[in-house]
Amino acid sequence: MSTLDEILKKIEQAKNIVILTHENPDGDAMGSSLALYQALVKMDKDVELIVPKYSRVFTCLPKIEEVKQEGSKSEYDLAIAVDTASIKQLDGWSKYFEDAKSRIVIDHHSSNAMFGDVNYVDMSSPACAQVMYVLFRYYEWEINHDVGTCLMAGIITDTGGFQYAGVSKETFEIASSLLVEGVDIAKIYKKLLSTNTRSSFELRKIALDRMEFLEDGKIAYTYINKKDEKKVKAETGDHEGIVNEGRNIEGVEVSIFLHEIDDGYKVSLRSNEYVNVSDVCLMFGGGGHFRAAGVTMQGTPKQIREKLVGEIKRQLK
Ligand code: 5GP
Ligand code: MN
Repeated sequence: MSTLDEILKKIEQAKNIVILTHENPDGDAMGSSLALYQALVKMDKDVELIVPKYSRVFTCLPKIEEVKQEGSKSEYDLAIAVDTASIKQLDGWSKYFEDAKSRIVIDHHSSNAMFGDVNYVDMSSPACAQVMYVLFRYYEWEINHDVGTCLMAGIITDTGGFQYAGVSKETFEIASSLLVEGVDIAKIYKKLLSTNTRSSFELRKIALDRMEFLEDGKIAYTYINKKDEKKVKAETGDHEGIVNEGRNIEGVEVSIFLHEIDDGYKVSLRSNEYVNVSDVCLMFGGGGHFRAAGVTMQGTPKQIREKLVGEIKRQLK
């Protein structure tokens, strides 16, 4: 039986299902999981999508009002993790995954730990939402306007608006077919990629002011801490995208952005061409993609910077 058939069988056999995605969810995590949620509701499953915390920019997505902060059951027949590379990324809600009778992983990260009983991971896909689209087509699930909007939101955000590696003819074919369904690509683009909240703009200003260039300008580095966030009254997700500012500067190969969390700093790395930042993050227990990866590290920003630069330097040309 193919992996896709196995997944469908597990879904058909389950009465209640929980959908989970990674902490600090991006547009792909939200879009892919919301699309899957709608398909399972349509199949009359007792389904819950649990996302404890997400940025308010995603309130524009269809069915977002049905997202739960916590589950109503202690054990589900089936748990499906979407856009998530490792169990660690399920943070405080990994219990729903671990305690489920059956577990499925649907993802596109090359560093995926294959932590489900069944894993469907297409590493060549630029967004988990593109993987999800393939599932929808294979199962002949209906892609209505709401589902299409969620899938498009995932594709647009994870590809930076069709600009990152992995975007292929197929990606544009999917976009084209969704456009035909009436999905407003321009609106999603504007809402999710080019609109900043006021506090995220203020936070960005602080990060930009603090930016340093290392290794002959090939590395851009900056950070924000809790004090900064308090100052600008930052909300969940307001730091999203700051890491791209460094990457977009001429001559920079790797951009490092640190964001303080309760147990240290969340590191975001981006590269432009040849540095495999997923490998850099794997060295410290994280992961991601070749040109976009992350990890949580302990220490002061300076100590973390030194550790990261030491690893990145080995790959710089
Ligand atoms: P971001 O910098 O946007 O948080 O993450 C970039 C990419 O790396 C995302 O695809 C994300 O899923 C992945 N990533 C971020 N943090 C971690 C982590 O701690 N572990 C793993 N395995 N992947 C991560
Ligand atoms: Mn993704």
